[in-house]
Amino acid sequence: MARAWHLTSRPTGMPTADNFALKELAQAELGDRMVQVKNSYLSVDPYMRGRMNDVKSYVPPFQIDAPMEGGAVGEVIESRDPAFAVGDQVMHMLGWRDEAVAAGTSLNKIPALGVEPREFLGMLGLTGATAYFGLLEAASAKAGDTLFVSAAAGAVGSAVVQIAKAKGMTVIGSAGGAEKCDYVRSLGADQVIDYKAGPLVKSLGKAAPDGIDVYFDNVGGDHLDAAFAHAKQNARFAICGMIDVYNAAEPQAFRYIMRVISMRIRVQGFIYTDYLPRMGEFYRDMGGWIASGAVKSRDTVVDGLERTPEAFLGLFSGANTGKMLVKL
Ligand code: NAP
Repeated sequence: MARAWHLTSRPTGMPTADNFALKELAQAELGDRMVQVKNSYLSVDPYMRGRMNDVKSYVPPFQIDAPMEGGAVGEVIESRDPAFAVGDQVMHMLGWRDEAVAAGTSLNKIPALGVEPREFLGMLGLTGATAYFGLLEAASAKAGDTLFVSAAAGAVGSAVVQIAKAKGMTVIGSAGGAEKCDYVRSLGADQVIDYKAGPLVKSLGKAAPDGIDVYFDNVGGDHLDAAFAHAKQNARFAICGMIDVYNAAEPQAFRYIMRVISMRIRVQGFIYTDYLPRMGEFYRDMGGWIASGAVKSRDTVVDGLERTPEAFLGLFSGANTGKMLVKL
């Protein structure tokens, strides 16, 4: 019998295992144009924390005692949609479960490019597209810019570092701990900051004595404040995520935010779906960089559906390097 994780209560602050329960799913009827998929990898993502709150946002909240959702890839095991055959590899949004029954229209066939299907949850999926469009469109980053990117050893951050190097930028990446900093350096970053080792405002000033042109924000909080402190005139900030504050009880105070005015900083929030009509450009460029070796991907893989909440919670303690995935 198929099983799915359900949200049983809404977390306050950091979620705990008690907020989730793994339950059997009632056998779904395979109606006309429906497809049954056996999932092979599930994506866990920081944005899912926002869906655990009962607030209106760009994605609807998870419902209490209903199966949770998220990115997944898997293989078609039964199909009543002529567009899908048994054995097809597909990606879809019915993650947090081992098997999914979905309308064929909600599935995307994974092209046979010789890459692992799980890449479509990472570098060739929303992760890579977020990095690509956030950096090049939301921040208008270009060759010669000095870029600062936070959570640089994570999924989006590691993609940003490599895209920026491929485009001829000087890259400063921050990550937590020496091992992750070594990884960010191995991706080509010119300077790396271990944000756990000292005050960020000081370390960023040392890494970028002339200031930064672009900040790609994955973290918010002190990282964003340090970027305000060291922004050059007309700097551009792409606000991608603020993982430092997703579980925070109190709002963050910014000491250097007034520099937005004096330095004419452009602060641009974005959601990767803003760029869905332009995915062709992303596939062309990212496909080329992966083929040439300019962009490499790394995953942190947690084994077993039972460990999905653990993998999700690990995002907030830095348990992952590269993309966090659950293997079924
Ligand atoms: P990720 O970076 O792979 O994983 C999260 C990482 O954040 C952790 O590994 C950890 O690395 C770091 N982190 C966690 N808590 C932190 C804290 N309090 N202070 C500093 N660093 C912290 O996750 P991702 O999927 O690539 O997502 C990165 C960001 O992009 C998130 O904010 C996410 O919400 C956002 N996002 C936005 C969009 C969009 O469309 N706008 C799409 C995808 C993702 P360390 O060990 O280095 O601390």
